[in-house]
Amino acid sequence: MSLIIIGSVAFDAIETPFGKTDKIVGGAATYASLAASYFYNKVKIVGVVGDDFHQEDIDTFTKHGIDTEGLQIKAGEKSFFWSGKYHNDMNSRDTLITELNVLADFDPIIPESYQDCEYLMLGNLSPQVQQTIIKRLKNKPKLIVLDTMNFWMDVAMEDLLETIKLVDVLTINDEEARQLSGEYSLVKASKKILAMGPKYLIIKKGEHGALLFHEDKIFSTPALPLAEVFDPTGAGDTFAGGFIGYLAKTDTVNFETMKNAIIYGSALASFCVEKFGTEKIINLTQQDITSRIKEFIALSAHTIEA
Ligand code: AMP
Repeated sequence: MSLIIIGSVAFDAIETPFGKTDKIVGGAATYASLAASYFYNKVKIVGVVGDDFHQEDIDTFTKHGIDTEGLQIKAGEKSFFWSGKYHNDMNSRDTLITELNVLADFDPIIPESYQDCEYLMLGNLSPQVQQTIIKRLKNKPKLIVLDTMNFWMDVAMEDLLETIKLVDVLTINDEEARQLSGEYSLVKASKKILAMGPKYLIIKKGEHGALLFHEDKIFSTPALPLAEVFDPTGAGDTFAGGFIGYLAKTDTVNFETMKNAIIYGSALASFCVEKFGTEKIINLTQQDITSRIKEFIALSAHTIEA
């Protein structure tokens, strides 16, 4: 049994009110696989980079026990590059540059050793490629989670709607839920999106936490109030990686375990935003995670009886 994570593996240039970075390692699969590796030891990555990607960055995956056999390195080509600038409230950002480079004609290869996949995280990437992965797996995974963003809604909505039909869980942010459904109310949006195919919907609301929808049930988790948020880049992917990593570890898929999984995802995301890029999430200990989970429990524990 294993957990496959597919998504962009990238260079990012980020500007926040706290500073600016040159090209640093980022990408949806990078954040998600690192986060998942704290819960589960059979994480396998599928992606593509150019030969501008350094061996020491690939070694970071290996050090976290992440299998990189499915990470293609294209000689003479450049890695995906994304640049974004955050507004003062850190909840919204502008994408300044998206250079697909190697992602433009990415043909994912699933190594034979990956065919034991039971948990599949389709991280942010072209919906057509996300769909190809599902088709190239010989056995249907126990759980398929898909994360996407407004970029793909703008350029590939038809493909996205086709791919969404095939997954169990969709994770998007509030703005994207509104764009996808055409509804402002997130409750109305959730009903429309659940009718598109996924059995579960997670709406991420940045510093306001996350909502989990399933049938007529809703569960809400706060985000940890932090004194300093340095860089929210990758928080959504880190959340998704923590979420599916926890589910793979418990190997139980239902609404109850997903409630815990979104708290674990939120805890990992709260670390991610404390430093630039992957700096914080490459160096966590199990003790760090346990302490943070305790903070989450204390944050909304109460004694009301109804
Ligand atoms: P998040 O902050 O969770 O939305 O994710 C940010 C990460 O997504 C960055 O590290 C980017 O490299 C990556 N990213 C940005 N745009 C795209 C895109 N269109 N497709 C795939 N990955 C992207």
